[in-house]
Amino acid sequence: MFDDDGVNASANPDGKIAVLNGILNVADTPDALAAVLGHEIAHATQNHVMARAKKGARTDMLVLLGAAATGIRQDMLRDGAAIMSTLPYARDQETEADIVGLGYMAKAGFDPRAAIYLWKNMSNVNKGNKPPEFLSSHPSDDARLDNIIKSITPALVQYNDAQDSGRRPNCQP
Ligand SMILES: [Zn+2]
Repeated sequence: MFDDDGVNASANPDGKIAVLNGILNVADTPDALAAVLGHEIAHATQNHVMARAKKGARTDMLVLLGAAATGIRQDMLRDGAAIMSTLPYARDQETEADIVGLGYMAKAGFDPRAAIYLWKNMSNVNKGNKPPEFLSSHPSDDARLDNIIKSITPALVQYNDAQDSGRRPNCQP
């Protein structure tokens, strides 16, 4: 978690998820924040992070990311994270992260419908003067909401199962 006004979050090569405070203005409920985290964790578990780096393959970038992934150089870790937060994901990676992420949040007991709320909020903020940085690395369009809506039913089943088994997160600010 970084004390920074930027509306952003990213999955980094070392497996950690970076969240900037500013995203709490858009992901302004625990369920919406869980949607951001589920999405980012899915980018990490589905191997999008390194695939994205290789696609953009600049040698200096790969050196930084290699150092970041091994965690041997703290300064490179920071630079690697900065690079990762600006590289855009591919459309199919975004779709996969949305669907896998819905499952993660639902299984943890967070309401997956918050993902729809989150992306709508994100696009409302995008109409303002300062577009969220999150959208530069997570290109979004109407197809995203359609895909999430199509995948919401199995996620709601997982959410109800989680709630029934006592997984009812009660996050306090
Ligand atoms: Zn994404």
